[in-house]
Amino acid sequence: MIHVGIGYDVHPLVAGRKLVLGGVEIPHSKGLEGHSDADVLMHALCDALLGALGEQDIGTFFPNTDPRWRGAASRVFLQEAARQVVFRSGKIINVDVTVIAQQPKLMPYASAMKVNIAAALGIGPRQIGVKATTNEMLGFIGRQEGIAAMAVAGVDLPDEN
Ligand SMILES: [Zn+2]
Repeated sequence: MIHVGIGYDVHPLVAGRKLVLGGVEIPHSKGLEGHSDADVLMHALCDALLGALGEQDIGTFFPNTDPRWRGAASRVFLQEAARQVVFRSGKIINVDVTVIAQQPKLMPYASAMKVNIAAALGIGPRQIGVKATTNEMLGFIGRQEGIAAMAVAGVDLPDEN
């Protein structure tokens, strides 16, 4: 049975933080604020995978009140989502993510992001879509106050799920 899930995440852009998206450190004047490395792309992917399983979001697995996850690399969260799929005897079919950022240009980093996502999830780069768009200068994303990401995931689960 094919199950699909959706994920959405947003983090504020602030000075003095590294910008990490898809596990790639991207040179930029600002970075995303958050308890972990604030990798909004990986967080949206996590929620898409957990959603396909009918599970709750990433915050229930990794509470942002837990000091263990301060500054954590978000690949750990993706690895956990992949582990949850295995627990359920499932198989990830594909994941697809769109990052919405006014700046910087992200597509030059897309293949490096896919390599990181593939490694964390134990799937091939061709099962992964990474896309980026601007917000046409509109709203908080257009003003470069934050970056958002939305994702979907397809998971093949045995019938008893
Ligand atoms: Zn997040």
